[in-house]
Amino acid sequence: MFCPFCNADDTKVIDSRLVADGGQVRRRRECVHCSERFTTYELAELVMPRVIKTDGSRESFNEHKLRAGLQRALEKRPVPMEKIEVSLSQIKHFLQVTGEREVSSRIIGEEVMRQLRELDEVAYVRFASVYRSFQDLSEFQDELNRLTSKKSDATDK
Ligand SMILES: [Zn+2]
Repeated sequence: MFCPFCNADDTKVIDSRLVADGGQVRRRRECVHCSERFTTYELAELVMPRVIKTDGSRESFNEHKLRAGLQRALEKRPVPMEKIEVSLSQIKHFLQVTGEREVSSRIIGEEVMRQLRELDEVAYVRFASVYRSFQDLSEFQDELNRLTSKKSDATDK
């Protein structure tokens, strides 16, 4: 990496060790030009990427929204909450290991469909038929919210 003192593009590692119970690598580096020394820490970046919506805008990954989407698709289906949680962590894991800082909502939608296909056929078809025509998880969510509130309005009367 570049030297933070003189910006030379060549620095060498003079010491490397595991710290934070093996969760991080601490490296002592020396600039081959100005001989200044500095330390870097390397750790796995397991943050959720931001979501690129179809209109190009970005939003934070929202686990609550994703869970709600799965639950709605699985409404009245014989699938225990525990299995939904497992799918949810698999989707999150999939997004974390991409290593991307931003992913398109379409990729998330496809992954949700992959998980639903394994959980429950009916929920999968339910989700896919609605999602495919929206092509955006947020739009899909908004539409579901609209439908759900309509339904509960009718029940109230
Ligand atoms: Zn330097």
